[in-house]
Amino acid sequence: MTIQILPPQLANQIAAGEVVERPASVIKELVENSLDAGATRVDIEIEKGGSKLIKIHDNGSGIPKEELSLALSRHATSKLSSLDDLDAILSFGFRGEALASISSVSRLTLTSRTAEQSEAWQAYAEGSDMAVKVIPAAHPVGSTVEAVDLFFNTPARRRFLKSDKTEFTHIDEWLKRIALVSRDIHFTLKNNGKVVRNFRPAKTSDQYLQRLAQVSGKKFALQALAVECEHEGLKLSGYIQSPYFEGSASDTQYFYVNGRLVRDRLVNHAVRQAFAEHVTGAQASYVLMLELDPHQVDVNVHPAKHEVRFHQSRYVHDYIFQALQSALSQVGKPVFLAEDQ
Ligand code: ADP
Ligand code: MG
Repeated sequence: MTIQILPPQLANQIAAGEVVERPASVIKELVENSLDAGATRVDIEIEKGGSKLIKIHDNGSGIPKEELSLALSRHATSKLSSLDDLDAILSFGFRGEALASISSVSRLTLTSRTAEQSEAWQAYAEGSDMAVKVIPAAHPVGSTVEAVDLFFNTPARRRFLKSDKTEFTHIDEWLKRIALVSRDIHFTLKNNGKVVRNFRPAKTSDQYLQRLAQVSGKKFALQALAVECEHEGLKLSGYIQSPYFEGSASDTQYFYVNGRLVRDRLVNHAVRQAFAEHVTGAQASYVLMLELDPHQVDVNVHPAKHEVRFHQSRYVHDYIFQALQSALSQVGKPVFLAEDQ
Protein backbone atom coordinates (compact mmCIF):
# COMPACT_ATOMS: atom_id res chain seq x y z
CA MET A 1 0.00 0.00 0.00
CA THR A 2 1.38 3.39 -0.91
CA ILE A 3 -0.04 6.71 0.18
CA GLN A 4 -1.65 8.61 -2.66
CA ILE A 5 -3.24 11.99 -3.09
CA LEU A 6 -6.84 11.65 -4.25
CA PRO A 7 -7.48 12.84 -7.80
CA PRO A 8 -9.41 16.17 -7.60
CA GLN A 9 -12.58 14.80 -9.12
CA LEU A 10 -12.74 11.95 -6.63
CA ALA A 11 -12.04 14.37 -3.77
CA ASN A 12 -14.93 16.51 -5.00
CA GLN A 13 -17.24 13.53 -5.22
CA ILE A 14 -16.37 12.55 -1.68
CA ALA A 15 -17.03 16.12 -0.51
CA ALA A 16 -20.28 16.00 -2.48
CA GLY A 17 -21.34 13.13 -0.26
CA GLU A 18 -21.50 15.61 2.60
CA VAL A 19 -22.99 18.61 0.84
CA VAL A 20 -25.17 17.03 -1.83
CA GLU A 21 -27.38 14.43 -0.28
CA ARG A 22 -30.38 14.82 -2.59
CA PRO A 23 -31.95 17.34 -5.01
CA ALA A 24 -33.26 19.48 -2.14
CA SER A 25 -29.73 19.96 -0.81
CA VAL A 26 -28.51 21.03 -4.26
CA ILE A 27 -31.30 23.59 -4.38
CA LYS A 28 -30.49 24.78 -0.87
CA GLU A 29 -26.85 25.43 -1.79
CA LEU A 30 -27.70 27.15 -5.07
CA VAL A 31 -30.44 29.38 -3.67
CA GLU A 32 -28.20 30.36 -0.76
CA ASN A 33 -25.60 31.42 -3.32
CA SER A 34 -28.26 33.54 -5.04
CA LEU A 35 -29.20 35.19 -1.76
CA ASP A 36 -25.53 35.77 -0.91
CA ALA A 37 -25.25 37.48 -4.30
CA GLY A 38 -27.96 39.94 -3.31
CA ALA A 39 -30.72 38.53 -5.52
CA THR A 40 -34.25 39.86 -4.96
CA ARG A 41 -35.85 37.26 -7.18
CA VAL A 42 -35.04 33.55 -7.43
CA ASP A 43 -36.80 31.23 -9.86
CA ILE A 44 -36.43 27.51 -9.28
CA GLU A 45 -37.28 24.94 -11.88
CA ILE A 46 -37.16 21.18 -11.47
CA GLU A 47 -38.02 18.12 -13.50
CA LYS A 48 -38.52 14.62 -12.16
CA GLY A 49 -38.04 15.60 -8.56
CA GLY A 50 -34.81 17.37 -9.50
CA SER A 51 -33.04 14.24 -10.72
CA LYS A 52 -33.49 15.23 -14.38
CA LEU A 53 -33.16 19.00 -13.99
CA ILE A 54 -32.49 21.60 -11.34
CA LYS A 55 -32.36 25.16 -12.61
CA ILE A 56 -31.93 28.25 -10.48
CA HIS A 57 -32.20 31.68 -12.03
CA ASP A 58 -31.40 34.81 -10.01
CA ASN A 59 -31.05 38.55 -10.49
CA GLY A 60 -28.06 38.82 -8.15
CA SER A 61 -24.67 40.41 -8.76
CA GLY A 62 -23.51 37.81 -11.27
CA ILE A 63 -20.01 36.36 -11.56
CA PRO A 64 -17.33 38.11 -13.66
CA LYS A 65 -16.21 36.16 -16.71
CA GLU A 66 -12.68 35.63 -15.36
CA GLU A 67 -14.04 34.09 -12.15
CA LEU A 68 -16.50 31.67 -13.75
CA SER A 69 -14.24 28.65 -13.88
CA LEU A 70 -12.81 29.48 -10.47
CA ALA A 71 -16.32 29.48 -9.03
CA LEU A 72 -16.54 25.81 -9.97
CA SER A 73 -13.28 24.86 -8.25
CA ARG A 74 -13.10 23.37 -4.81
CA HIS A 75 -12.27 25.68 -1.92
CA ALA A 76 -12.89 28.69 -4.11
CA THR A 77 -15.04 31.23 -2.32
CA SER A 78 -15.41 34.98 -2.42
CA LYS A 79 -16.87 35.00 1.06
CA LEU A 80 -14.00 34.19 3.36
CA SER A 81 -10.45 35.42 3.24
CA SER A 82 -9.01 34.63 6.64
CA LEU A 83 -9.72 32.24 9.44
CA ASP A 84 -10.88 35.13 11.62
CA ASP A 85 -13.82 35.61 9.31
CA LEU A 86 -15.12 32.19 10.33
CA ASP A 87 -16.18 33.63 13.66
CA ALA A 88 -18.43 36.27 12.28
CA ILE A 89 -19.64 34.60 9.15
CA LEU A 90 -22.80 36.27 7.92
CA SER A 91 -23.31 34.85 4.47
CA PHE A 92 -24.80 31.40 4.02
CA GLY A 93 -21.99 29.70 2.18
CA PHE A 94 -18.34 29.91 3.00
CA ARG A 95 -16.76 26.58 2.31
CA GLY A 96 -16.35 27.09 -1.39
CA GLU A 97 -17.50 23.54 -1.92
CA ALA A 98 -21.03 23.65 -3.20
CA LEU A 99 -20.48 24.37 -6.89
CA ALA A 100 -17.45 22.08 -7.12
CA SER A 101 -19.36 19.29 -5.39
CA ILE A 102 -22.51 19.67 -7.47
CA SER A 103 -20.54 19.86 -10.70
CA SER A 104 -18.70 16.66 -9.78
CA VAL A 105 -21.97 14.72 -9.64
CA SER A 106 -24.04 16.33 -12.43
CA ARG A 107 -23.75 18.05 -15.80
CA LEU A 108 -23.48 21.61 -14.62
CA THR A 109 -23.84 24.85 -16.58
CA LEU A 110 -23.26 28.23 -14.99
CA THR A 111 -24.38 31.28 -16.96
CA SER A 112 -23.78 34.71 -15.55
CA ARG A 113 -23.50 38.38 -16.24
CA THR A 114 -22.41 41.25 -14.02
CA ALA A 115 -23.71 44.81 -14.38
CA GLU A 116 -20.28 45.87 -15.71
CA GLN A 117 -20.29 43.34 -18.54
CA SER A 118 -22.13 43.93 -21.78
CA GLU A 119 -22.50 40.22 -22.43
CA ALA A 120 -23.01 37.05 -20.46
CA TRP A 121 -20.71 34.04 -20.25
CA GLN A 122 -21.33 30.41 -19.66
CA ALA A 123 -19.15 27.82 -17.98
CA TYR A 124 -19.72 24.15 -18.40
CA ALA A 125 -18.20 21.30 -16.44
CA GLU A 126 -19.06 17.71 -16.99
CA GLY A 127 -18.24 15.81 -13.87
CA SER A 128 -14.93 17.59 -13.35
CA ASP A 129 -14.01 21.11 -12.30
CA MET A 130 -10.68 20.62 -14.02
CA ALA A 131 -12.19 20.84 -17.48
CA VAL A 132 -14.25 24.02 -17.57
CA LYS A 133 -15.18 25.61 -20.88
CA VAL A 134 -16.27 29.25 -21.03
CA ILE A 135 -18.35 30.47 -23.98
CA PRO A 136 -20.43 33.61 -24.69
CA ALA A 137 -24.14 33.43 -23.85
CA ALA A 138 -27.31 35.51 -23.54
CA HIS A 139 -28.43 36.32 -20.00
CA PRO A 140 -29.60 39.38 -18.04
CA VAL A 141 -27.55 40.58 -15.03
CA GLY A 142 -27.53 37.71 -12.55
CA SER A 143 -26.87 33.99 -12.75
CA THR A 144 -28.45 30.75 -13.84
CA VAL A 145 -27.15 27.43 -12.63
CA GLU A 146 -28.42 24.33 -14.35
CA ALA A 147 -27.64 20.89 -12.93
CA VAL A 148 -28.79 18.11 -15.23
CA ASP A 149 -28.81 14.36 -14.48
CA LEU A 150 -27.88 14.52 -10.82
CA PHE A 151 -25.67 11.59 -9.73
CA PHE A 152 -25.37 10.35 -13.35
CA ASN A 153 -21.80 9.28 -12.61
CA THR A 154 -22.40 7.96 -9.09
CA PRO A 155 -24.96 5.18 -9.63
CA ALA A 156 -24.99 4.15 -5.98
CA ARG A 157 -26.11 7.65 -4.97
CA ARG A 158 -28.62 7.81 -7.79
CA ARG A 159 -30.27 4.60 -6.63
CA PHE A 160 -30.62 6.14 -3.19
CA LEU A 161 -32.99 8.82 -4.54
CA LYS A 162 -36.61 8.39 -3.55
CA SER A 163 -39.64 8.82 -5.83
CA ASP A 164 -40.01 12.10 -7.75
CA LYS A 165 -42.89 13.01 -5.50
CA THR A 166 -40.87 12.48 -2.31
CA GLU A 167 -37.93 14.47 -3.66
CA PHE A 168 -40.34 17.24 -4.70
CA THR A 169 -41.79 17.33 -1.18
CA HIS A 170 -38.29 17.76 0.30
CA ILE A 171 -37.67 20.66 -2.09
CA ASP A 172 -41.02 22.27 -1.38
CA GLU A 173 -40.54 21.91 2.38
CA TRP A 174 -37.16 23.57 2.16
CA LEU A 175 -38.53 26.40 0.02
CA LYS A 176 -41.32 27.07 2.52
CA ARG A 177 -38.77 27.41 5.29
CA ILE A 178 -36.58 29.83 3.41
CA ALA A 179 -39.60 31.79 2.14
CA LEU A 180 -40.67 32.57 5.69
CA VAL A 181 -37.36 34.09 6.66
CA SER A 182 -36.33 35.72 3.36
CA ARG A 183 -39.52 37.72 3.21
CA ASP A 184 -38.33 40.38 0.75
CA ILE A 185 -37.33 37.84 -1.87
CA HIS A 186 -39.67 36.82 -4.69
CA PHE A 187 -39.45 33.03 -5.07
CA THR A 188 -41.10 30.85 -7.66
CA LEU A 189 -40.99 27.08 -8.04
CA LYS A 190 -41.82 25.31 -11.28
CA ASN A 191 -42.28 21.55 -11.19
CA ASN A 192 -42.37 19.64 -14.51
CA GLY A 193 -43.32 22.83 -16.39
CA LYS A 194 -45.99 24.04 -13.97
CA VAL A 195 -45.61 26.93 -11.48
CA VAL A 196 -46.51 25.45 -8.11
CA ARG A 197 -45.25 28.19 -5.78
CA ASN A 198 -45.22 31.91 -6.19
CA PHE A 199 -44.11 33.78 -3.08
CA ARG A 200 -44.31 37.49 -3.84
CA PRO A 201 -42.18 39.86 -1.76
CA ALA A 202 -43.80 40.38 1.65
CA LYS A 203 -43.08 43.99 2.49
CA THR A 204 -45.96 44.59 4.92
CA SER A 205 -47.13 42.40 7.79
CA ASP A 206 -50.35 41.69 5.87
CA GLN A 207 -48.32 40.43 2.93
CA TYR A 208 -46.22 38.39 5.34
CA LEU A 209 -49.33 36.83 6.83
CA GLN A 210 -50.40 35.87 3.31
CA ARG A 211 -47.06 34.17 2.83
CA LEU A 212 -47.52 32.46 6.17
CA ALA A 213 -50.96 31.25 5.03
CA GLN A 214 -49.40 29.83 1.83
CA VAL A 215 -46.80 27.98 3.88
CA SER A 216 -48.60 26.95 7.05
CA GLY A 217 -52.24 27.12 6.08
CA LYS A 218 -54.92 29.76 6.61
CA LYS A 219 -55.88 28.27 9.95
CA PHE A 220 -52.52 29.13 11.47
CA ALA A 221 -52.15 32.53 9.81
CA LEU A 222 -55.61 33.72 10.88
CA GLN A 223 -55.11 33.16 14.59
CA ALA A 224 -51.34 33.57 14.87
CA LEU A 225 -50.01 35.80 17.61
CA ALA A 226 -47.21 38.21 16.73
CA VAL A 227 -44.07 38.10 18.89
CA GLU A 228 -41.65 41.01 19.01
CA CYS A 229 -39.15 41.21 21.83
CA GLU A 230 -35.72 42.76 22.16
CA HIS A 231 -33.40 42.63 25.12
CA GLU A 232 -29.66 43.22 25.50
CA GLY A 233 -28.61 42.28 22.01
CA LEU A 234 -31.11 39.45 21.60
CA LYS A 235 -34.11 39.89 19.37
CA LEU A 236 -36.95 37.40 19.01
CA SER A 237 -39.74 37.95 16.51
CA GLY A 238 -42.28 35.95 14.55
CA TYR A 239 -45.66 34.31 14.95
CA ILE A 240 -46.86 31.69 17.38
CA GLN A 241 -50.01 29.74 17.85
CA SER A 242 -52.53 31.55 20.03
CA PRO A 243 -53.04 29.95 23.45
CA TYR A 244 -56.78 30.01 22.70
CA PHE A 245 -56.46 27.81 19.66
CA GLU A 246 -57.68 24.27 20.26
CA GLY A 247 -55.39 21.52 19.02
CA SER A 248 -52.63 22.09 16.51
CA ALA A 249 -52.99 24.95 14.03
CA SER A 250 -50.51 23.43 11.57
CA ASP A 251 -47.37 21.34 11.66
CA THR A 252 -45.15 24.39 11.37
CA GLN A 253 -42.36 24.49 13.90
CA TYR A 254 -39.67 26.71 12.50
CA PHE A 255 -36.96 28.43 14.47
CA TYR A 256 -34.31 30.54 12.76
CA VAL A 257 -31.08 31.85 14.24
CA ASN A 258 -29.64 34.78 12.31
CA GLY A 259 -31.63 33.74 9.28
CA ARG A 260 -30.80 30.04 9.40
CA LEU A 261 -33.28 27.35 10.24
CA VAL A 262 -31.99 25.37 13.19
CA ARG A 263 -33.07 22.21 14.94
CA ASP A 264 -31.53 22.69 18.28
CA ARG A 265 -32.30 20.87 21.51
CA LEU A 266 -31.79 23.89 23.69
CA VAL A 267 -34.09 26.03 21.55
CA ASN A 268 -36.73 23.29 21.34
CA HIS A 269 -36.69 22.87 25.06
CA ALA A 270 -37.17 26.58 25.74
CA VAL A 271 -40.04 26.83 23.24
CA ARG A 272 -41.79 23.69 24.46
CA GLN A 273 -41.51 24.76 28.07
CA ALA A 274 -43.10 28.15 27.31
CA PHE A 275 -46.01 26.59 25.44
CA ALA A 276 -46.51 23.82 27.99
CA GLU A 277 -48.30 26.11 30.38
CA HIS A 278 -50.65 27.54 27.75
CA VAL A 279 -51.34 24.95 25.07
CA THR A 280 -52.41 21.48 26.08
CA GLY A 281 -52.28 18.32 24.01
CA ALA A 282 -51.02 18.80 20.46
CA GLN A 283 -47.68 20.41 19.74
CA ALA A 284 -48.02 24.15 19.21
CA SER A 285 -47.00 25.80 15.95
CA TYR A 286 -44.55 28.65 15.60
CA VAL A 287 -42.32 30.56 13.22
CA LEU A 288 -39.68 32.37 15.23
CA MET A 289 -36.55 34.29 14.37
CA LEU A 290 -33.80 34.88 16.86
CA GLU A 291 -31.20 37.48 16.03
CA LEU A 292 -28.02 37.97 18.00
CA ASP A 293 -24.42 39.03 17.59
CA PRO A 294 -22.86 36.44 15.24
CA HIS A 295 -19.88 36.26 17.61
CA GLN A 296 -22.20 34.79 20.23
CA VAL A 297 -23.06 31.71 18.19
CA ASP A 298 -21.21 29.00 16.23
CA VAL A 299 -23.03 27.85 13.15
CA ASN A 300 -20.12 25.99 11.64
CA VAL A 301 -20.87 22.80 13.53
CA HIS A 302 -21.91 20.71 10.53
CA PRO A 303 -22.04 21.30 6.75
CA ALA A 304 -25.83 21.02 6.77
CA LYS A 305 -25.71 23.73 9.44
CA HIS A 306 -28.81 22.74 11.36
CA GLU A 307 -27.09 22.75 14.71
CA VAL A 308 -25.80 25.81 16.47
CA ARG A 309 -23.81 26.41 19.61
CA PHE A 310 -24.60 29.44 21.71
CA HIS A 311 -21.77 30.78 23.80
CA GLN A 312 -24.18 31.77 26.57
CA SER A 313 -26.58 28.91 26.14
CA ARG A 314 -28.36 29.20 29.48
CA TYR A 315 -28.97 32.89 28.94
CA VAL A 316 -30.34 32.35 25.42
CA HIS A 317 -32.55 29.51 26.64
CA ASP A 318 -34.07 31.60 29.41
CA TYR A 319 -34.52 34.60 27.14
CA ILE A 320 -36.50 32.56 24.59
CA PHE A 321 -38.58 30.99 27.33
CA GLN A 322 -39.40 34.31 28.98
CA ALA A 323 -40.13 36.16 25.73
CA LEU A 324 -42.65 33.50 24.69
CA GLN A 325 -44.03 33.08 28.14
CA SER A 326 -44.85 36.76 28.39
CA ALA A 327 -46.28 36.93 24.85
CA LEU A 328 -48.54 33.97 25.64
CA SER A 329 -49.74 35.25 28.99
CA GLN A 330 -50.36 38.83 27.84
CA VAL A 331 -52.73 37.88 25.08
CA GLY A 332 -56.35 38.81 25.81
CA LYS A 333 -59.12 36.39 25.15
CA PRO A 334 -60.17 36.71 21.52
CA VAL A 335 -63.47 38.52 21.04
CA PHE A 336 -65.18 35.60 19.34
CA LEU A 337 -64.49 33.41 22.35
CA ALA A 338 -65.72 35.99 24.85
CA GLU A 339 -68.99 36.38 22.95
CA ASP A 340 -69.63 32.67 22.99
CA GLN A 341 -70.06 32.63 26.71
P1 ADP B 1 -19.35 29.38 -1.32
O1 ADP B 1 -20.79 29.78 -1.47
O2 ADP B 1 -19.12 28.56 -0.10
O3 ADP B 1 -18.42 30.54 -1.46
P2 ADP B 1 -19.82 27.94 -3.73
O4 ADP B 1 -19.14 26.78 -4.36
O5 ADP B 1 -21.25 27.78 -3.37
O6 ADP B 1 -18.98 28.36 -2.48
O7 ADP B 1 -19.67 29.19 -4.69
C1 ADP B 1 -18.37 29.61 -5.07
C2 ADP B 1 -18.34 31.09 -5.40
O8 ADP B 1 -19.05 31.32 -6.63
C3 ADP B 1 -19.03 31.99 -4.39
O9 ADP B 1 -18.15 32.37 -3.36
C4 ADP B 1 -19.45 33.18 -5.24
O10 ADP B 1 -18.40 34.11 -5.38
C5 ADP B 1 -19.72 32.57 -6.60
N1 ADP B 1 -21.16 32.31 -6.83
C6 ADP B 1 -21.80 31.13 -6.77
N2 ADP B 1 -23.10 31.22 -7.07
C7 ADP B 1 -23.32 32.54 -7.34
C8 ADP B 1 -24.49 33.30 -7.72
N3 ADP B 1 -25.70 32.73 -7.90
N4 ADP B 1 -24.32 34.63 -7.95
C9 ADP B 1 -23.10 35.22 -7.79
N5 ADP B 1 -21.99 34.55 -7.41
C10 ADP B 1 -22.08 33.23 -7.20
MG1 MG C 1 -22.36 28.51 -1.62
